[in-house]
Amino acid sequence: MILLSTEISNIKGLAPRFLAKLAKLGIRTVRDLLWHFPTRYEDFSTVARIAELEGNQNTTVQGVIRKVALRRTARRHMVIVEAEIMDDTGSINAIWFNQPFVAKTLRPGRLASFAGKVAFGEDGLYLSNPSYELMNNFSSETKHTAGLIPIYPETKGLTSKGLRYLTKPILTNLEPLEEFIPEEVLTQNNFPDLNVALKHIHFPKNLEDATAAKRRFAFEDLFLLQLNNIKNRLELAKEKSPSIAMDDASVGLIVKKLPFELTLSQRQSLKEILEDVGKNRPMNRLLQGDVGSGKTVIAAIAAVAAAKKNYQAAFMAPTEVLAHQHYRTLTRIFGHLHIPIGLVTGSASKIFFDEALETDIKKSDLMDRVKSGEIKILIGTHAIIQKSIAFKSLALAIVDEQHRFGVAQRAALLKQKTKYIPHFLSMSATPIPRTLMLTIFGDLDLSLITELPKGRKAIITKIVAPENRAKAYAFIRGEIQKGRQAFVICPRIEKGEAQETDKLLPKHLNWSDVKAVKEEYERLKNKVFPDLRIAMLHGKLKPKEKAGIMADFGAKKYDILVSTSVIEVGVDIPNATIMMIEGADRFGLAQLYQFRGRVGRGEHQSFCLLFTDSTSDSTERRLKSLVDAKNGFELAEKDLAIRGPGEFLGHSQTGLPDMAMQSLNNLELVKSARVAGVAIMKKDQTMRAFGALKSRFEEFRKKIHLE
Ligand code: ADP
Ligand code: MG
Repeated sequence: MILLSTEISNIKGLAPRFLAKLAKLGIRTVRDLLWHFPTRYEDFSTVARIAELEGNQNTTVQGVIRKVALRRTARRHMVIVEAEIMDDTGSINAIWFNQPFVAKTLRPGRLASFAGKVAFGEDGLYLSNPSYELMNNFSSETKHTAGLIPIYPETKGLTSKGLRYLTKPILTNLEPLEEFIPEEVLTQNNFPDLNVALKHIHFPKNLEDATAAKRRFAFEDLFLLQLNNIKNRLELAKEKSPSIAMDDASVGLIVKKLPFELTLSQRQSLKEILEDVGKNRPMNRLLQGDVGSGKTVIAAIAAVAAAKKNYQAAFMAPTEVLAHQHYRTLTRIFGHLHIPIGLVTGSASKIFFDEALETDIKKSDLMDRVKSGEIKILIGTHAIIQKSIAFKSLALAIVDEQHRFGVAQRAALLKQKTKYIPHFLSMSATPIPRTLMLTIFGDLDLSLITELPKGRKAIITKIVAPENRAKAYAFIRGEIQKGRQAFVICPRIEKGEAQETDKLLPKHLNWSDVKAVKEEYERLKNKVFPDLRIAMLHGKLKPKEKAGIMADFGAKKYDILVSTSVIEVGVDIPNATIMMIEGADRFGLAQLYQFRGRVGRGEHQSFCLLFTDSTSDSTERRLKSLVDAKNGFELAEKDLAIRGPGEFLGHSQTGLPDMAMQSLNNLELVKSARVAGVAIMKKDQTMRAFGALKSRFEEFRKKIHLE
């Protein structure tokens, strides 16, 4: 009996060079080998009669070998093996090029099976380079010919044929595996049992069997993921959080004092959030809304609710620029409430009591005031989760653009717990496709802001060809003369230097012609717009300098801001109406969408100009989908389809295996996994009744929590 854990090196009769090749594919144990699934199957399921063959078809024929001949071509010294095969309807030649060993296996008089393409030559039809195997009789089982032939991910020197050769006998002699998916789930979904599925995925009799097996394996991790989500929810529900309910009248008063009227879905989201934080159980909610939809103010009102109840709220932003911006927003719109607000970033710490009393203070001083509970709302970068920061009574943790934070950081923030754990609100403008929402983010509740504030005009997006550059500049000048401002985004700081966005790009791209921010800044300043006020922003500036430049741009001290992708998330400058992107083809769709969202935030018509030198069809198609996208959700789905969930989620690793990542695209399967997960947990939360599932689940949980 062969076990799953058996090392391949312990399988008898394997050449060492084979082992090295297998290792290249990551295959060390029998389990690795059997979970090295075929990517597709070649269909040789119909065994054809020789007399009925036609040119250009894939076929299997079975018959007796009549003659075998080996010869060399005069020119080029090719070795050709030719065999004549006969069945009861006729005969056909099979020809192999440069495979002299074929002549050793195929002996006249033997019965054999051949699978390959029927080609049309000078002497009529022949089989070109077919796979072959000997048979004892016509009902012998075949693995390389007839039926569906699995094609695997290969590596140099290890073909699918080699893998089939290895896999088949192992499968036959494998110990029976324990099934961990409950019977009822298998039946409900028409999944084959694990042992059958493993046979069918490698050597299916027909495509239906293969598909069912594939679905079953894709389902496994989705199912475990759902169980994990449900378990997380159940565990969270056992924890305590302080109620920071605010009565309707107070909410009404705060809302009334805002400089604008909330949109319908802002109100709805606010209601959902305030309802949640009014309970004694922790909220775990994602506030999702398109860029510019006004998420900040909603989260901020929740923070105010905490402050009013004499608790604390933490507001965490992914960049210094954003932390400063949130600080400015909150102090501006809630200044009249006299709530002590602190700001802490890597380079700055400030404190605000009201308009008349705002000051820089020493970080240690700020920390003391957070610890004493005097500061009610602390805004900052991930500096907030540093060990030195202790809250007196943290009741609400807000994380902006949460997909930017790793799971570990989130956990660290939640560790600020005493007798209770804080409510948790994350915000994201990156629309998370539905399948991901139901899986990776499945333990979150969702509030959606579905519309933009009134009066916003749709952003006009144009792809600008190189020859229209001058025209585009003239247009930008015109807008600036009307009092507007412009962003110019360039892909990187200096030639030859790696940047964060590099990861998102195909490796083969040549950087040498990419506009560098510095160069572009000099060029715009000296040649194109010498009369305009231009500033530059990039990741190499000190955080304080960055924040200063953003503040000045916000105060209209500059007309144009030339920047790297540091501008990407959340920046809010309503007077900026032009987003011009150099080398637009070098950015991912979701990222371009984020850039574009920096404009169109005020009452004026906004424009997004995509500059590209690339003329490839795929670039054009990609950029065009940005031009056409009606909303971020549509785009996110496209991005997911183009890049796959791994890339989509960026570096915030999910800890999920590849197989599960692939199946995240499959909404129907995701839904079935959810239904099954809910049903099982309803029956038995402890999973004790499902022993095999329970231990498999615990393994899975360990794996995804370890990163
Ligand atoms: P995002 O959802 O992208 O984080 P912000 O919260 O930064 O968006 O809001 C974008 C801009 O819209 C800000 O200037 C904010 O003050 C403004 N805003 C928010 N809600 C409304 C509203 N209901 N009406 C008008 N402007 C609003
Ligand atoms: Mg924002």
